[in-house]
Amino acid sequence: MKIILLGPPGVGKGTQAQQIARDYTAKHISTGDILRDAIKKETQLGRKAKEYMDKGELVPDEIMLGLIEETLFGGHPKANYILDGFPRTLPQAEGLTALFRKHNTEIDRVILLEADQDEIVSRLSARRVCANCQAVYNLHTNPPQQDGICDQCGGRLVQRKDDQKETILKRLKVYAEQTAPLIDYYRDKGKLDPVDASGSPDEVYTKLKKILGKIS
Ligand code: AMP
Repeated sequence: MKIILLGPPGVGKGTQAQQIARDYTAKHISTGDILRDAIKKETQLGRKAKEYMDKGELVPDEIMLGLIEETLFGGHPKANYILDGFPRTLPQAEGLTALFRKHNTEIDRVILLEADQDEIVSRLSARRVCANCQAVYNLHTNPPQQDGICDQCGGRLVQRKDDQKETILKRLKVYAEQTAPLIDYYRDKGKLDPVDASGSPDEVYTKLKKILGKIS
């Protein structure tokens, strides 16, 4: 299973990807998580990425394409994965298609999660993530059992710096300008499955499972 989860920030890609990864023994690959980890470890990649991420801007394509090639095909190539947050621009999508071709493989489906802007801003403002294992919570719809503590690993829950109001609006603008064109790109390839993501995580997951049932 090789799938891409496409959709604006805050639509629930990370939450759904974690669930799919658990149920289908696939690897959840979030480029945002990889970059945040690089920032935490203060690597060269982390230092470069931070200046873009803090402003809600995209990290340059050549950096991201190198990172994804290493992640997918370096070391032990992975058979089953869910890409969350990649590709995010047309050059990234084209680069990914070329990379798959080079490795004689292809993406199965691209699932587009859609929700309206007010819903997204409200979700992002209430989002908290585990600083240790990256599990995602929502203070209103999916709160942790104990305030500020991750149910899964006991780690500390934090608000991402880029989940503050100003940066959220900037990220939505970047999505509309740079990432939304990928919808047509994958629709034209006959790979796109749009899903209404305005319901609860469980409701959305039920819809996803129907699509995943056809490919796994
Ligand atoms: P995310 O966790 O997917 O919302 O990503 C957080 C931030 O990481 C984004 O706002 C970008 O600055 C950066 N980022 C993650 N994935 C990509 C990508 N594929 N291309 C460029 N920047 C990315």
